[in-house]
Amino acid sequence: MKLEWRRVSLPLKDPFTIARGTLHHQQCLIVILTQDGVSGFGEVTCNNYYGHTYESLEAALNLVRDAIAEQPLMHPRELYKVCQAVIPTDRFALSAIDGAAYDLYGKTQGIRTTEILGLNTAAETRSSYTLGIDSIEEMIRKYRDQPDWPVYKIKLGTPHDLEIVQALRAVTEATIRVDANCAWTVEQTITNSRALRELGVEFIEQPLPADASPAAQREVFEQSALPVIADESCRTEEDVARCEGLFHGINVKLCKCGGLTPASRMLQQARALGMKTMVGCMIESTVGISAAAQLLPLLDYADFDGANLLAEDVARGVRIHNGEVEFSNVYGNGIELLI
Ligand SMILES: [Mg+2]
Repeated sequence: MKLEWRRVSLPLKDPFTIARGTLHHQQCLIVILTQDGVSGFGEVTCNNYYGHTYESLEAALNLVRDAIAEQPLMHPRELYKVCQAVIPTDRFALSAIDGAAYDLYGKTQGIRTTEILGLNTAAETRSSYTLGIDSIEEMIRKYRDQPDWPVYKIKLGTPHDLEIVQALRAVTEATIRVDANCAWTVEQTITNSRALRELGVEFIEQPLPADASPAAQREVFEQSALPVIADESCRTEEDVARCEGLFHGINVKLCKCGGLTPASRMLQQARALGMKTMVGCMIESTVGISAAAQLLPLLDYADFDGANLLAEDVARGVRIHNGEVEFSNVYGNGIELLI
């Protein structure tokens, strides 16, 4: 198989702010895996927080390119082992290759990736739409631009978090979830959880820093008035068991864990441990979203709005429309590249 990639800079509709900073463009790599004239596509985004740049991602892809060139078409789980042996800790790069591998394998076999993963395709879970941090007026304007989603995920971590949620609750009856992106203390989390429960919020994502002590996490787990979902605290397969008893659920992202192959195992493990399951995304194109959406049957919560936040996309594939996950008629992940 042949491995190639392209650098892409995705323009956003609106600047996107979370507790850690603001984005205007999202840099990503589109990874292309080709065998006998058929191509599968994967995506990985550059990410300061996790320390991934174009250069670091391309260095990892260069390391694994020769190993892939020697391989015939194979099940993505088998190719994952080949790649993992070469770049065991480069999970962002692994995730893009793994996404392309499922897309290619499905296209050549004439099946969808959900079927390759052994999942029932009839899933009802809807996606949330994310409102990044901004002035309250701007956050309401962004909500009014997209008023028909069943669920909104509100980014918090400001000096006026409760006012933001109060203002949005005043204009919508939709389900609201909040994501503090590591910005709160134990005391803030417990206090905020009570007020947020009164506002009908469903859960809190990652209130504490990723390196908070287990004792701090347990205090929040036991005293929060709302369920707490791990994002930055749950990156890899090894983290799932560690989150038991500290979080009520986990938010898996393909780039954090290494792709569909480990993500599907993590979600099944979390369910077996009685935790809620969620898959989220970065701001990314339909290439990345189409991979993540294949996990829908394993999810209690979905956050697949990455491509909806873009001014221009680079592919057709799984489409998220007002929360509905609309699968493409193309096999694999369903991706048709437009660039
Ligand atoms: Mg998050």
